[in-house]
Amino acid sequence: MLVLLPLIVIAVYLGLYLMRSGRTADCRWRQTGRDAEGIDWACPVCGGSTRTEKGEPRFCAAKPAP
Ligand SMILES: [Zn+2]
Repeated sequence: MLVLLPLIVIAVYLGLYLMRSGRTADCRWRQTGRDAEGIDWACPVCGGSTRTEKGEPRFCAAKPAP
């Protein structure tokens, strides 16, 4: 029984990690516009919008930016 305990702890952490990544994966930025200064993005999942100079945003507008 003592041997199983670390395995259960690992399984719980793995489950939490997978749940968190699954939720992050729900946030899908879509390009809505682009001009010389940058690219406009909108997230249909949380309704957020933002603008970057280059590349897809790495955060969700529903959560605080890193
Ligand atoms: Zn989002």
